Amino acid sequence: MTVRLFDEDAYLSEFESKVESVKEVNGRYEVILSETAFFPTQGGQNHDEGTIDGIEVLDVTIKDDIITHVLKEKVSKGSIVKGKVDFNHRFRNMQMHSGEHIFSGLAHKLYNAENVGFHLSDNSATIDLNLKLSEKDLKKLEGLVNEAIIKNIDIVATIYKNGEEKDIEYRSKKELSGDIRLVEIKDIDICACCAPHVKSTGEIQLFKITSFENYKEGVRINYLCGLRAIENYDASLESLKSISKALSVKQGEEYKGVEKLLSDDRLLKDRNTFLLKKLVENEIEKADFSKENVFILLPDFLKDFLRYAMDLAKEKSTGRIGVFCEDESHMARFLIESDSEDLRELNNVLKEKYGAKGGGKPHSIQGTVETCMRLKELF
Ligand SMILES: [Zn+2]
Repeated sequence: MTVRLFDEDAYLSEFESKVESVKEVNGRYEVILSETAFFPTQGGQNHDEGTIDGIEVLDVTIKDDIITHVLKEKVSKGSIVKGKVDFNHRFRNMQMHSGEHIFSGLAHKLYNAENVGFHLSDNSATIDLNLKLSEKDLKKLEGLVNEAIIKNIDIVATIYKNGEEKDIEYRSKKELSGDIRLVEIKDIDICACCAPHVKSTGEIQLFKITSFENYKEGVRINYLCGLRAIENYDASLESLKSISKALSVKQGEEYKGVEKLLSDDRLLKDRNTFLLKKLVENEIEKADFSKENVFILLPDFLKDFLRYAMDLAKEKSTGRIGVFCEDESHMARFLIESDSEDLRELNNVLKEKYGAKGGGKPHSIQGTVETCMRLKELF
C-alpha cells in the first residue's frame, strides 16, 4: 500500500520517497513509490500534475491501494527521488472539490437530494443530483454555499477505524468497509471522501453554477469555484467588453445592442427580399412571352425566388414555363410547370437525356441539372 501523504497534509507539494518499482510500458515508465503526495485519478476527479526528479508525471492511477505514477523517463528502482506536485493545479482542484462538498451537503440537507455523480477535470466540473431541482432551488443553494464560504468553517478529515464511525450519519455513494475517512464541515455536511480539501471554507472563495440541465431522473450542474470561477469571470467580462465596444453600447447594456442589431438585421432582410422580388419582376418583364413555351434564366442570387418568378410568369403564359438559376459551377436549379400539359414524359427526358435530378407532380417538376442552356431546345 502506498502511503498517501495528501491524507495528512493537502498542502504538501514537495516530498522525497523511495522508488519501490519501475516498469516500462510502451516507452513510458510506471513508477511506484513508498509514499507520495500525488493524488491519483479517483472518485471522478483528475490526478495531480507535477514532476518526479524533474521528469513530468503524465498520469497517476490507483489500484488496490497502490498508487502508480506514469513518467516520460526512467528513474532507478531503490533510489530516493524528489516529487514536486504542481500546487497551483492541486489548489484549484481542492477549491473545486471542497465547494462540491458544501453544495452536495446542502442539497441533501434541504431537499434530501443525493449526489449521484461527480466529475472534475481541467476544463469541466459537474455534479449530478438524483432530484430535479428548479432554477430557483439551485439559485438558493448557490447563495447558501457562498454564505458557508463567508463563514470560513473548518473542513476536517478524520480517519475512523474498526467501525468507530457507526453512530455518525454521513453521505457516501457506496457501502464502505475498513478504515473510513470522513470529511466534516460543521452544520453543513459529513461525507466519506479520500481526496484533498482546503482547510476551511473561506479558501474556496466563490461558488458559481454556470449552467444546469435535466439529467436522468435529476439534474446536472456545471459549476466553478475559487480561482477557476474568477478566471471565468475575467474571460466573460473581456467578452462583454468586446461586444459593448463592437456595438458601441455602454457596458452592462450589451443586450440592448444585440437587440438593435437583430432588429436592424430583420429590417435589412425584409428590404433585401423586397429588392430581390423587384429584380425578379424585372426579369419576368424582360422575358420573351411571344411563344407558348417560355425559358427564363435568372441570376444565381435569385435562386430562392423560382416560385415567385413562376407565379408571375404564369400570369403571362399558359404553356410550358421553365425557370432556371445557374451557379458558377454551371449547376442549375429549375422549376418547370404547365397547367395544360402532363410533364411526366418531359421529366423522363430530362433525367435520361440531360442527367437531371429531381421530380414532382404531373404539372410541376423541379430539380437540378448541369448547364441549363442545353435545355432551351425544349422550350
Ligand atoms: Zn472530498
